[in-house]
Amino acid sequence: MPTNNDGTMIILSSPSGAGKTTLVSLLSKLNNFEVSISHTTRKPRPNETPDKDYYFVSEQDFKRLIKNEELLEYAKVFDNFYGTTRTPVIDKLNKGKNVLFDIDWQGADQIKNKKLDYKLITFFILPPSKEVLFERLSNRDMKDKLIATERMKQFSRDVLHWINYDYVVINENLEKCYSKIFNLIQAEINNGSKDYDSDYIRSHIDKLTS
Ligand code: 5GP
Repeated sequence: MPTNNDGTMIILSSPSGAGKTTLVSLLSKLNNFEVSISHTTRKPRPNETPDKDYYFVSEQDFKRLIKNEELLEYAKVFDNFYGTTRTPVIDKLNKGKNVLFDIDWQGADQIKNKKLDYKLITFFILPPSKEVLFERLSNRDMKDKLIATERMKQFSRDVLHWINYDYVVINENLEKCYSKIFNLIQAEINNGSKDYDSDYIRSHIDKLTS
């Protein structure tokens, strides 16, 4: 049974290339914050550590998790399955840990709709401009500019989901973006005043979607 001493669920989503994974990893260094490690059918990247970055599983194993109703949420993203197992998350929250989720908008929607008895704060991270995003995506996939172009198209679709999040934060400068998120989390947890300019965010989104 959830109580006031329970942890808070904090979701960070973003279109590809907005720098969300780095932000999650910085936030996870805070006292009492832990990352929810997802399961995925995607193959590990060279810089990734199994069971730390993800639990890498076969499609068959993933389907078993779905069938056994072990997942709090799951989604197919770029041809691979990704999902969050329920038990480790609930255990952490019950121990008073704040749990960070690096998941896409489909997973965020599912968790929101579950209306669990734990506090939930959702953030959508955006790049400062389409030009900067293209630059970041091209650097990541140096071999193939086509991938960057494809992901830009995906960006135009993904950005539309900003509306379902509590806060939209622009990642122009990593430190400033981190502080913004940190301050909003503290304000939400402690019922303090929130420094958030929704008109500015609205005009930024208009620029990104024009
Ligand atoms: P990547 O393959 O680049 O690590 O992640 C691709 C996308 O999948 C990212 O937007 C990431 O946030 C999302 N993702 C990672 N884990 C999960 C998960 O457990 N559930 C959902 N719904 N999305 C996830």
